[in-house]
Amino acid sequence: MEYVSTRGQIRPIGFSQAVMMGLADDGGLVVPKDIPDVRGRCDDWRGLPYEDLALEVMTPFVGDIPRDDMRDMIHRTYDVRNYGGPVAPVARVGQMFVLELFHGPTMAFKDVALQLLGNLFEYILARRASGARAMNILAATSGDTGSAAICGVRGRKGINIFVMHPHGRVSPIQERQMTAVLDDNVHNIALEGSFDDCQRIMKELFGDLEFKNRYCLGAVNSVNWARVLAQIVYYFSTAAEVQKLTGAAKVRFAVPTGNFGDVLAGWYAMKMGAPISGLILATNENDILARFFSTGEYSLAQVRQTLSPSMDIQLASNFERYLYYRVGQDGDRLRGLMKQFARTGRLTVPCGCGPAGVSACPGGINRTDPDFQAGAAKTADVLDAIRQCHSRHGYVLDPHTACGWAVAEKFLPGDPIICLATAHPAKFPAAIEQATGRNDLARHPRIDKLMSMSTRSTLLANDKQAVREFIVNRLERP
Ligand SMILES: *Cc1c(COP(=O)(O)O)cnc(C)c1O
Repeated sequence: MEYVSTRGQIRPIGFSQAVMMGLADDGGLVVPKDIPDVRGRCDDWRGLPYEDLALEVMTPFVGDIPRDDMRDMIHRTYDVRNYGGPVAPVARVGQMFVLELFHGPTMAFKDVALQLLGNLFEYILARRASGARAMNILAATSGDTGSAAICGVRGRKGINIFVMHPHGRVSPIQERQMTAVLDDNVHNIALEGSFDDCQRIMKELFGDLEFKNRYCLGAVNSVNWARVLAQIVYYFSTAAEVQKLTGAAKVRFAVPTGNFGDVLAGWYAMKMGAPISGLILATNENDILARFFSTGEYSLAQVRQTLSPSMDIQLASNFERYLYYRVGQDGDRLRGLMKQFARTGRLTVPCGCGPAGVSACPGGINRTDPDFQAGAAKTADVLDAIRQCHSRHGYVLDPHTACGWAVAEKFLPGDPIICLATAHPAKFPAAIEQATGRNDLARHPRIDKLMSMSTRSTLLANDKQAVREFIVNRLERP
């Protein structure tokens, strides 16, 4: 498989290079040249163990890593020793299904992709010429990417990781999950700004190609294609499982969304031919994406802090990948749109229902794209969802999952809905207590242990130059 940039200005590259490049050198995102059609193979894949399915789903996207080596990496990634059980188990909860993606080491779905990415980095570096076997990861996190990425690469040879989190805006547990890792190759930065500031500084530093190449910068945010790729797998495994449980021909997924990475993986799965009839996109009060899918206009607002901090994002980086397909994979056109957006903070795209436009939309409603239904959950909706789900079904949702649940309930009649549970509730005990009045529902021994561990991080100004100097100092110190 060859990869190109959404902005059309890099030469096609292979999978390994796409993984190492992170953000495309022209400022766009790396995308596969084609989306493989695997419709005819879904039946054969039924019942495969997760690891074997992962190998099948990923193979058409890889190409330059021998299949046996991919198999080995995938098996190490999803080993029961890492997961203590299945990677992506499904629970029936009331009228819906919950896909529990929080059984990895840092208890958020991001482990599923970042554990694999750590193995991919190590593998690709080890096969390089001896002078080029080092990389420095630069990451921005709204809470969960940081700890999952750190966990994926801590202690690995030749890899340093720098993680910026918005100071005081991630939960105390999320902060500790990052800063209580004291390996020499882990560098935590508390930035005096929002997540969007962290992400902007990251993109600006990646955009300085001299700096990027000199210090071999790599990305673990979902701008990295391998993240999206690893997440496509569980849409296939779960769709098949729920088909079997319900006898339905197709299923829907409700996805709590921040950076549009996870839901984009679902969209790729759908386009590849997984039996998915639609995606329900859920945001919190930072509803730029929900508004887009209801109105066709993408317009920036202020970031608000909510109970679901990993979704407190306005500028969803992966949305650019989706827009690329919406403009017919026309990099020049997308480059123009992104320029316009950078200037005005707004952009619009034509209705996705084809040449007939809005009149072809189901029910004549402009949903912008018939593949998506969308909604935003307010704080009160999230608290209600957590409380009711617990009292009716005895099941505790974390506040991110609760956004998906609350929005999904509005779309209930129709194909079965699978809500992605993106974090373990024990990561967000304050929200659970606020919703239920109980402090004993969201506990986990791994989290309890964190609170007594030592931590390390450096507070930096909301300034690209300060971050740059910090990185240089750390890397150049004797
Ligand atoms: C990152 C994250 C999300 C949002 O995922 P995106 O891929 O950024 O849309 C949702 N829930 C939790 C718990 C997360 O950590």
